[in-house]
Amino acid sequence: MSDVFPVVIIGSGPAGLTAALYTARANLKPLVIEGLEAGGQLMMTTMVENWPGFRHGIMGPDLMGEMRVQAERFGARIIQGDVDSVDLSTRPFRVSLSDKEYRADTLIIAAGASAQWLGLPSEKKLVGRGVSSCATCDGAFFKNRPIVVVGGGDTAMEEAIFLTRFASKVYVVHRRDKLRASKVMQDKAFANAKIEFVWNSVIEQIHDVDKGEVTGVVLRNLLTDQVRTLAVDGVFVAIGHTPNTSLFTGQLDLNPTGYVVTTGTKTTVEGVFACGDVQDFTYRQAITAAGTGCMAAMDAERFLEHHSAPAHQETTA
Ligand code: NDP
Repeated sequence: MSDVFPVVIIGSGPAGLTAALYTARANLKPLVIEGLEAGGQLMMTTMVENWPGFRHGIMGPDLMGEMRVQAERFGARIIQGDVDSVDLSTRPFRVSLSDKEYRADTLIIAAGASAQWLGLPSEKKLVGRGVSSCATCDGAFFKNRPIVVVGGGDTAMEEAIFLTRFASKVYVVHRRDKLRASKVMQDKAFANAKIEFVWNSVIEQIHDVDKGEVTGVVLRNLLTDQVRTLAVDGVFVAIGHTPNTSLFTGQLDLNPTGYVVTTGTKTTVEGVFACGDVQDFTYRQAITAAGTGCMAAMDAERFLEHHSAPAHQETTA
């Protein structure tokens, strides 16, 4: 028989660790399964300047390290590992890792979303060093500097428009000659004098890995096969996010793009809550993820107050 926990939290980004802090302080002894991308997307960011309370900013990994220690201080148990499968058909819910199974009276899903990347080796090496997937987080580093945004959807348009506040020039590189973005966003982007579109083109390489900073991108025009280098100081990849919800397909309602459907933080299964980027495709900020993490913790606590738990055995992680 596997251990039963009042609260199991899947994910250890700002949402998961805030849920852990609150449920730990409520003496619910949460178990956090940190996931493959422990600490979440902020682990790939350098300076975070929009987390309230740090007037000079804080490094993303440092912020996550603090959150982790704070949650542990109140009794949260954080274990390494990635969840292989869940069974939400009956309470306690079952959460399986490769070598162990846990049972949970309530489950908080904080598995986050992963930014989609172009998949270039140079991109991977320069993430956090001029390559970013979050204009709100990193835009201010590019004051009066030229940058590239990749993508043709609403996110790319929104980020390009936002980045014109800082950048001297924003090139939008799109692989087709038609945008996927909504008409209103297209119109705004077309009307912005700082934005220049580079159509039918893809980025083949990002310079300069040796220097550890972005100095330009190599572009290929897909129609003419022409290759050229564009001098820029930053690359914002805005080609979509994928919520980490494949575990839950068929067990709770997901929207057509895969995000968990929530009312507040309640999912369509009683006792299962979701918070952060796994259910939020609108705001996608660390602070909003933390806010919903707090809400999920309070919702789980209230749920436990009103629903008697099946008989518990001693919990060990
Ligand atoms: P989308 O999937 O809508 O767009 C992704 C874009 O990236 C597409 O233009 C796509 O090109 C391009 N792309 C995908 N993969 C690659 C690749 N490997 N190389 C180059 N280009 C690539 O994602 P978004 O994040 O823009 O939007 C997600 C959802 O969120 C949408 O429903 C959107 O409407 C919504 N949203 C709404 C906002 C708002 O209303 N303010 C703001 C932001 C998002 P192609 O077009 O050729 O497929």
